[in-house]
Formats: sequence, C-alpha cells, structure tokens
Amino acid sequence: MRIRKASALAAAVFALSLAATACGSDDESGDGGSESSGGSGDGGGGEELRIGIKFDQPGIGLENSEGEYSGFDVDVATYIAGEMGVAPEDIEWVEAPSADRETMLQSGDVDFIVASYSINPERMELVDFAGPYFLAHQDLLVRSDAEVSEDAINEMTLCTVAGSTSAQNVQDSIAPDAATQEFPTYSECVPAVQQGTIDALTTDDSILAGYAAQDEYEGQFKLAGFDLSDEYYGVGVPKGETELVDEINTALQKMIDDGSWEQAVESNFGPANYDYEDAPKVGDLSVVEE
Ligand code: GLU
Repeated sequence: MRIRKASALAAAVFALSLAATACGSDDESGDGGSESSGGSGDGGGGEELRIGIKFDQPGIGLENSEGEYSGFDVDVATYIAGEMGVAPEDIEWVEAPSADRETMLQSGDVDFIVASYSINPERMELVDFAGPYFLAHQDLLVRSDAEVSEDAINEMTLCTVAGSTSAQNVQDSIAPDAATQEFPTYSECVPAVQQGTIDALTTDDSILAGYAAQDEYEGQFKLAGFDLSDEYYGVGVPKGETELVDEINTALQKMIDDGSWEQAVESNFGPANYDYEDAPKVGDLSVVEE
C-alpha cells in the first residue's frame, strides 16, 4: 500500500535482507502495494501516497487546467499525508469517481480516498472508514428563477451520479417517483440543469454550493435549502487496515484541534457562502449505523 521511494541502494539492501530472513515482510504493507509513478529510484527516501479525490467538484476536490489540485478534501488529505511524513509533492492524486471508490480501494489502486465519501453500512461491508470529518446534507441545485417545494420533488426531473448515496436516497425515500437521470460525474449534470432539460441536480449541499459559486454560473443557480439526508464524510481505506484508520483518525483529530480544519473549511466553502456544520466526532461511526 504505502509506497516507499527507494533508492537503488536501499532496494538492494532490502532484497538482501529478504533473502537472509527467507520469509516475507510482515510489516503493514504486506500486500505488495500498488504500482505507481514512484519507485524510480530518484533517491528521495521519503514515502509516497496515492490518494483518491474528486477532480471536478469545486470547493471539495478540483483539478485545474495546470494540473493543480484544490478543495477541502485536498486540504484534509494533504494534512493527513503530512502527519504521515509525506510531503505534498509526494502525493499522487488519483481521480475517484463516485461509482469506483470501493473497487479502487479493493484493488489497491489508491492508499486511501478523501472524496465527499459518505460513510454508510453498505459501504462499510466493503471498505473501512476513518472519520467522520465532515457533515453535509443532500439538497437540490435549481435554476435561480425556479420555485421548488419539498412536497413536489416527486414531480421533478432530477439528475445525480451513479454509485452515490444521493442516487440511492432518491430511489429509497426522497423521491422514488421522480424521473431520474444518472451521470458519471456531477459536473456533467450541471449544464443539463442550466439548459432546463433537467429540473434539479441533487447531491450534497457542500458540492452544490461549489457549483453555484463558480464564476461561469454566476447568478444562475440556487440551492433549494432542503436538508434531505445526513452525509457523514469518511476517509475510505482498504478493508482490514485498522492501523491506517487509527493513524488517519489521529491526524483528523489534530487537524480539528489545531484550527487547520476550520481554516480549510472557511477557505474552501467561504467563497460559496456555504453554511457548514461543526466538525463531527472523529471515530464515532455510530452516527451512520442503522
Ligand atoms: N456524499 C455522497 C456519496 O458519497 C454524494 C457525493 C459523491 O458522490 O461523492 O455518495
């Protein structure tokens, strides 16, 4: 899992020590790890991480045209990596679309995922979670001139994203009778609302606020303001990596205690005027258990 940037010498020493003990390593990374752009023997000697984030969600996880990354999840992930001794330049960011997150963790494609990833019982069967580190609520993004009422969601045409709790919640309880279209990513859904082919995009208010605040959409959208669900964001890790969960929880707690969490929330959500919740209790997964 975690990838060590090994110099040629270190690799040789490691190979020798393996041969001498004639048995496999018993350390935390016993699964052989994921392949990465690292391991090139560039002599850094530090560790590298592959972290899954969203690439198209302003305020949460965004890749710009220069290949730079920003957003609250990027700040959280960078802080966690720092606590693990990994410098920002040694993080490889990997896009983690909603529907692929569990598979990416199961296949070892990433070390962990920080991608507006709600903790829920179904996902907890497949992966483990550190956190929660944030609480969002499902809402609707509509055109600014639209009139919406919570009682009439079933009559609307909605779009959301495959593999998200947002899609699941619509089907299960929020609006089982609504005509729903699922897209691979939220950013593909926004133009459909703008053009009027879809009445509303539904997902976490944290994500919707980011789209509404984008310059290119200025004044065009509003959030309906409905608290349709509780979405506790967790850091997804491969199943059984309890030490990693503990390590990440310690980092998250520190991030909250030293004020970095508040700073990250304000700098990423402040421009969108998003009224965020206080930090949830890290390590308390009872809030999402049925
Ligand atoms: N938080 C919800 C989820 O994990 C919606 C956002 C997303 O798709 O990333 O499914």
